[in-house]
Amino acid sequence: MKAVVQHQFGGPEVLSYEDLPDPTCGADEVIIDVEAVSINRGLDFGARRGSYNRPVALPHVLGVDPSGMISEMGSEVKGWATGDRVWADFFLTCGRCEACKSGQSRACTETGMLGVTRHGGYAERVAVPARNLHRIPDRLSFAEATVIARHFPAAMYLIEERAAIRRGETVLIMGAMGGLGSACLQLAKQAGAIVIACVGSEQSAEGATDLGADYCVNYREEELLQRVLEITDQRGVDIVCENVGDPTIWKDVFGSLSMGGRLVTAGAHAGGIVELDLHRLYLNRISILGGAGVPPDGIERALRLAEEGQIKAPIAKILPLAQAKRGHQLVEARQTPGKIVLAPKLSN
Ligand SMILES: [Zn+2]
Repeated sequence: MKAVVQHQFGGPEVLSYEDLPDPTCGADEVIIDVEAVSINRGLDFGARRGSYNRPVALPHVLGVDPSGMISEMGSEVKGWATGDRVWADFFLTCGRCEACKSGQSRACTETGMLGVTRHGGYAERVAVPARNLHRIPDRLSFAEATVIARHFPAAMYLIEERAAIRRGETVLIMGAMGGLGSACLQLAKQAGAIVIACVGSEQSAEGATDLGADYCVNYREEELLQRVLEITDQRGVDIVCENVGDPTIWKDVFGSLSMGGRLVTAGAHAGGIVELDLHRLYLNRISILGGAGVPPDGIERALRLAEEGQIKAPIAKILPLAQAKRGHQLVEARQTPGKIVLAPKLSN
């Protein structure tokens, strides 16, 4: 099969489109003929550079969120059939420990990650455990399912469980046209919030407005804090959704919170080490809440909302798999508002 392989760690140039033997299918696994897989700034770039906090064995194949059709099934797999349209969750569990057996697989003690600790979906075929599969509704394309299932469940966890958003609250979304940010934006609007989208380009401002943002602030051209205070009559916002962690604008981000405000965060691709004003934190009763996770029903719920047309996958471009390197360069250069999806069956 064709796959995008990296034999060393580094920039986009280490990604090589080449032949690789087909994956073998374990007894509890299926083979997916990949139709779509997205480029993820956090996970893919970390694994590609060798800087992610999990060891990556070389040669490696990236790709954390493949979707496609089942083409082969292991002897122990039940409930699926070849030809089923599926998305694979990247969070790999052992299936044997107490947590897994009691249905609390997110607390599994022997976790791995598809596309990080084992070969992922930047390939024509990928092997995944059957317990990681989710069915894609007929009305969703593979590209849409990949983007929706990858980001919306994580956004639900941040917005619903951590921030516990309420109707009428004001929310500042950082990186509002990123994968997670654009999902938080749409969920916040669905919850009846007033959304201020923080973006870095005119293109992204247009994208965020299309997704329902009430206000957009381009932090490269405007003073973020000043604009937020103007928009909120000097009150500040109730919630900030962070997933950028940029130390150069953190002061404005943190300063945007109102009395009793909550900042929820998952992701820190712009650095993540910031200076925290503890005086402001306690005097203003601010909460900072971390949250990498997904609600138990998050993936199914997100796919259903997308099928009903209530949320949209912000897809900037669909590229052939052979152009993975170019896709990484575009994402690295922040040239595209929305996600870039790789499609192995798209001709070069
Ligand atoms: Zn387990």
